[in-house]
Amino acid sequence: MVKDNNTSEPVEILPAITEDERAMKLVLEILAGKIIDIKPELDFSSELGFTYPLVEQTLGITGKETVSILESLVDKGILKKNFFDRFLHCPQCQSLNLRPTTHCPKCSSGNIAHGRILEHFVCGYVGLEDEFVAEGRYVCPKCNTELRVIGSDYQSRGLMRKCHDCSEVFQIPLIKWRCLKCSSLTAEDKVTEQNIYSYSFNEARRGWLEFELKPKPQLIEFLKQRGYEVVENATQRGRSGAEHSIDILATRDDGVITHNIAIGVKAAGDEVSLRDIFDFDDKAYDIGIHEKVLVVVPGLDKEAKTFASQQRIKVLGVRDLETVLASAVPPRDVEVEKEPFEFKSKSQMVAYLKRRGYEVKKAAAVRGRSGAEHNIDILATRDDGIVTHHIAIAIEVSDEPVELGRVFDFDDKAYDIGIQEKVFIASPGLSQEARQFVERQRIRVFEVKELDPSD
Ligand SMILES: [Zn+2]
Ligand SMILES: [Zn+2]
Ligand SMILES: [Zn+2]
Repeated sequence: MVKDNNTSEPVEILPAITEDERAMKLVLEILAGKIIDIKPELDFSSELGFTYPLVEQTLGITGKETVSILESLVDKGILKKNFFDRFLHCPQCQSLNLRPTTHCPKCSSGNIAHGRILEHFVCGYVGLEDEFVAEGRYVCPKCNTELRVIGSDYQSRGLMRKCHDCSEVFQIPLIKWRCLKCSSLTAEDKVTEQNIYSYSFNEARRGWLEFELKPKPQLIEFLKQRGYEVVENATQRGRSGAEHSIDILATRDDGVITHNIAIGVKAAGDEVSLRDIFDFDDKAYDIGIHEKVLVVVPGLDKEAKTFASQQRIKVLGVRDLETVLASAVPPRDVEVEKEPFEFKSKSQMVAYLKRRGYEVKKAAAVRGRSGAEHNIDILATRDDGIVTHHIAIAIEVSDEPVELGRVFDFDDKAYDIGIQEKVFIASPGLSQEARQFVERQRIRVFEVKELDPSD
């Protein structure tokens, strides 16, 4: 084997862990109860002067990166932040290790003293008590006269400060900050202030998170395995012209019908309300999707539950969803060949539907909401675990194009039964009027030149 000296040893490239993945890891630790309160600790040797030791150990990061992750979780509503302290930074080197120093307000000198201040009325000299003390007596350092009676030839002005450089006597000194790291001196108003926070988990988000982290990716996988195309946060324009966002939109064209399932996720601190269900139902209606699944965290109030069932919204709590996902039969037809929906007889059509996992009932008698019993040529049902699809199929064979009245009757029946997936098979075709009607009513039409009516 020839050794190629130009080729260096392969470098193992570790997958870069993104900030999001780190944040995710932190969230998992919090949910597991391994990290509870996130409190800063002072550490002047660190980048920011404080650290979050537990978070930093867990994620293997420090400084600004830690704060950035914590703040991103605050933005998502997962963490709450609480004021912990306000820190001052050296504007030169960012160190937190600052010490306040006092200065003369007139000349800025740091050479000042604090003590009792005496004023000698005779010569007007003002100075610290120390300056007057001489062998157990008070003697004015300016005019060398002994001070005698307080209030008469001298007075005490109390505790004040005096500048040794310019002799200014003052009450309030100027404050400056000495950086103990880079030694620079900064005026009080030029120092950088920073609030630092402690962080805690927002318990109201627990249910939502428990959905996002586990059942949601599983649900998406489940749908994909069943031939659905899945789009998260899908934007759809409704008939009203408004744009709606659907948490998960699952679409599957099985040759007969394109199934659209709108899956909404509603999480609330306590109970999901009627208002939330309304919003979801309105959106789905405007977009024209009637297969509706709503994942609610933690649950629904009674009113909302009633409304949801009236509107045929399948409501699943996180636990229900987990049960559905765990107990679902593996998909029957992982990859059905894309064959066109073509047939020459009813039995061929039935076979086609069966290959696609539908249970088929011919000449099905179904009672509608009005109480009337309807006869449906073919009723195809498929339970794909999360939603049960019902398709009503009408077959009309005639010598002439099928008239509006026939399509209208079928639409009426389907409405009364509550089936929204409608397929109309017309042989040899539809009249102009009927065609306009089916478009408006979202009836899928297959025009077949010849259909053997006996089979
Ligand atoms: Zn004097
Ligand atoms: Zn001074
Ligand atoms: Zn500094």
